[in-house]
Amino acid sequence: MRLADKAAIVTGAGSGIGRATTLRLAGEGAEVLAIDWDGDGLAGTARAGNGPGGIEMLVADVTDEEAPGAALAACPSPDILVNNAGIGDARAAHLTADDDLDRYLDTNLRSLFRFSREAVGAIKDGGCIVNIASIFGITGFRGSAPYSATKAAVIGLTRNMAADYGPVGIRVNAIAPGVIETPLVADRLAGNAWFVDTLVGGTPLGRTGKPEEIAAAIAFLCSDDAAFITGHTLVIDGGFSATHFRARPEDGA
Ligand code: NDP
Repeated sequence: MRLADKAAIVTGAGSGIGRATTLRLAGEGAEVLAIDWDGDGLAGTARAGNGPGGIEMLVADVTDEEAPGAALAACPSPDILVNNAGIGDARAAHLTADDDLDRYLDTNLRSLFRFSREAVGAIKDGGCIVNIASIFGITGFRGSAPYSATKAAVIGLTRNMAADYGPVGIRVNAIAPGVIETPLVADRLAGNAWFVDTLVGGTPLGRTGKPEEIAAAIAFLCSDDAAFITGHTLVIDGGFSATHFRARPEDGA
């Protein structure tokens, strides 16, 4: 077990990538504080855990300014912080009003900033932060303005905090997933042919990703195997953003 005796905080742990990450970290031996505002989702995550690490639950809105303090009260000396909670399904800039922009800034950026700011004073030497960004923080994508802007900011913050906190033994990395099968994108995968054609059709590996595939990379980045990796954004998207992929007629199917 790579994470035996480590203490971890995971936000957005009631669903999707956060749930898979909680289960993976606990499976690697970590004691995980799982945070989400959806208590039923959190309970589902806790039920699915089969050790050896334990899963403790904290129902909280990560945008609440008290949330980071509550997390650190429950897990005072973490080794790992996974800033995963986020919202998606945005629109183009001219269709985004201020209150909608604020929702993205508050959830995808401000809460992550606050959790990280509070955690750096508590994370043990040798610990780490993993921020969940997105390939849309790296590439442009139609109809995604406030989402892309906040995810690009997460990548910038990751690099900055790697510089600021490397000297005190804290590594800070990000993951930029492509399309991963979670409730966040379920409607678009089921009902938006353009979305599926553009993203899955543009992916050399020809499929969407699974939350467990992101969780596996997070577990790696949190482990001593990644002890010399900081300030990095790991793209996990089946090759979508590295290529201009389109199947050729002669490829068949
Ligand atoms: P899910 O919606 O499946 O899970 C996110 C969880 O976070 C949900 O339980 C959600 O609750 C919760 N949450 C949202 N806002 C808050 C809040 N303010 N306080 C507490 N909990 C909150 O999404 P994913 O697992 O897909 O997404 C996880 C991260 O991965 C996000 O940052 C997302 O941007 C990123 N990502 C996802 C991709 C994908 O294709 N799935 C691609 C690229 C990045 P509720 O559902 O009730 O709102």
